[in-house]
Amino acid sequence: MSDAPGNRPHDNQTCAFCKIIRGEEIASIVFENSLSLAFLDHRVSQSVPHVHIHLVPRHRNDGLKGFFWPRQRYQDEAHLQQVRDILRGAIASLQSGL
Ligand SMILES: [Zn+2]
Repeated sequence: MSDAPGNRPHDNQTCAFCKIIRGEEIASIVFENSLSLAFLDHRVSQSVPHVHIHLVPRHRNDGLKGFFWPRQRYQDEAHLQQVRDILRGAIASLQSGL
């Protein structure tokens, strides 16, 4: 692999994603394997130099327009944990083939 900037692994002391990966910032992780890490968002729109995918639940009249969707905070920590646990359960079901 060349040493061109685009081919170097990114590791930055201030990057929120790098902090989560290093375990320096708390995240509500819903899935993790050797190639990927999935966690709930907790801030509005930030730019990070990582390939990432936003999974946005859809429902009728949800206001999604193109790439932008209405951002909402979790009601409280219990709500965040409930969402995390629902996603973990869905992922486990998918992995078990159910
Ligand atoms: Zn980073």
